[in-house]
Amino acid sequence: MARTNRNFVVVVGSSNTDMIIRVPRVPGPGETLLGGEFSTAPGGKGANQAVAAARAGGRVAFIARLGRDSLGNEAMTRLRAEGILLSHTVRDDAHPSGVALIFVGSDGENSIAVAGGANQQLSRADVSAARGLIARARILLLQLETPLQTVAAAARLARRAGVRVILNPAPACPLPDALLRNVSVLTPNESEASLLTGCKVRGAASAARAALILQGRGVETVIITLGAKGAFVAGRDQTGLVAGFKVKAVDTTAAGDVFNGALAVRLAEGCPLFDAVRFAHAAAAISVTRPGAQPSIPTRREILSMLRP
Ligand code: ADP
Repeated sequence: MARTNRNFVVVVGSSNTDMIIRVPRVPGPGETLLGGEFSTAPGGKGANQAVAAARAGGRVAFIARLGRDSLGNEAMTRLRAEGILLSHTVRDDAHPSGVALIFVGSDGENSIAVAGGANQQLSRADVSAARGLIARARILLLQLETPLQTVAAAARLARRAGVRVILNPAPACPLPDALLRNVSVLTPNESEASLLTGCKVRGAASAARAALILQGRGVETVIITLGAKGAFVAGRDQTGLVAGFKVKAVDTTAAGDVFNGALAVRLAEGCPLFDAVRFAHAAAAISVTRPGAQPSIPTRREILSMLRP
């Protein structure tokens, strides 16, 4: 085990089935739009990030809850096919698997509603049962589509075991300092950084101010993703804008998830912070040029060829 731990990433989080309708534009309240095209795809921030990490070259375990239903069965099969370790993925007899209803407009904008189902039942006991696994990880990767107390418990376990924690604070909600102090790398986008700090974050200058606030609350490294512009990175000894890649975006649904999964693998491998962010940019940029969440996630080979000059 010890020899292969170098790229071991444990993801705690959600799994959903995305039900996607592509429409000319995202419908407003009370509006019925005809002419859509329907498809389903595996999604959920936790599962997306686990798949992104696996395709980016990581050895990945996924701690999650899925319903004992057909959507749950399909998710298990697909995650297993990605080579993801599912020994601590719990099947819930009482709650359905999570579902997300997604509209994607022709300009790549999206609008999403999520029914969390079994994801909302992921408990501190589930995480505690996986403590041995977490202790062997190089990186623990977390998001906020499962209960906050479960996320906090996982971060605490990892910190005690000396494992670095990446928290992607999405979807945004206020976070206690006790949790932030256990986070090595916090990765909000602009709107999440705005909510967490109370400052309007738009572009590098305001991101720099928000990053300082978050570091003041106990986070070691803050990476604020800025969409097509890249990310503002505030590390322990290096700070600045890391530009993204110029591509033609068709669907930005999972950009942040791909960024986080790829980042986790590169940091687990011991890569320097700014280089790891460039690797994550390349992965996310490729994903926005393709439709869907998990189907759009690139392989390590694709990411490396994007990085080649
Ligand atoms: P989220 O998807 O969580 O809202 P962002 O929009 O900030 O987060 O995007 C996350 C990352 O995805 C960016 O830092 C960048 O690497 C990549 N990305 C997003 N949109 C684009 C785009 N239009 N072109 C190139 N890269 C993009």
